[in-house]
Amino acid sequence: MAKRVICCMPPALLANTIDLFPELPKTYLKEAKNTHTWMQDSIKAGLAYEIPFWKDQNISTIITNEGPVIEFYDHSNADNTKFALCGFLHPAFANLKKEERKERVIAQLVRLLGEQAGKYLSYEEVVWKDEILTSIDTGDYFLPHQNNGNKIFQESLYDGRLLIAGSETSAVYGGYMEGAVNAANLAAEKIKKPG
Ligand SMILES: Cc1cc2nc3c(=O)[nH]c(=O)nc-3n(C[C@H](O)[C@H](O)[C@H](O)COP(=O)(O)OP(=O)(O)OC[C@H]3O[C@@H](n4cnc5c(N)ncnc54)[C@H](O)[C@@H]3O)c2cc1C
Repeated sequence: MAKRVICCMPPALLANTIDLFPELPKTYLKEAKNTHTWMQDSIKAGLAYEIPFWKDQNISTIITNEGPVIEFYDHSNADNTKFALCGFLHPAFANLKKEERKERVIAQLVRLLGEQAGKYLSYEEVVWKDEILTSIDTGDYFLPHQNNGNKIFQESLYDGRLLIAGSETSAVYGGYMEGAVNAANLAAEKIKKPG
């Protein structure tokens, strides 16, 4: 049986989806549920093409307030043998079915880049709100990075037998890759101490 556990799930996911016995302290649960998981609302989409027709128009980036596409980039490979456009859709479009969202993305790209945008090889997308190992939709509204790095996440749980170390627990760069590395380093330091 494990003597100590390091949990690296986002705090909100842990608090909302895992039942611990005995239960986590009420204040801890409240703060964890109140913690934004960075990028949990984002939607990423990408389209592969036979030819990079956008390069002929000297376009490498699309930034627009008109949805669903809000931020798209040239995503061709370094060898210039595979071609794609990839980026972010507005989170509000998460409510549509995939086919409907796809149709709107393509219609917008055709409007912006011309008919060739409709001749894609493949369309891929990830709606992060639906990724059950990353986020949970509780219906609550969170500010970006809300509660990230809250001091409570450094507290010892179950006499130091449970450490919480996801990026959102980090006091520096909470929610980012750097935060994840920082939280992991802190947990590693703590686990080295006899428990
Ligand atoms: C779309 C998007 C874009 C991003 N862009 C950037 C960026 O440009 N720069 C940047 O610094 N950061 C970015 N981030 C944030 C970055 O991905 C995170 O900071 C980082 O992945 C957090 O690492 P982590 O180890 O804390 O958590 P995660 O990488 O989320 O790891 C948590 C792990 O827990 C697992 N898990 C969840 N539930 C369970 C369970 N019940 N049982 C077992 N395992 C479970 C998950 O599968 C996952 O592997 C982005 C995030 C997203 C979603």
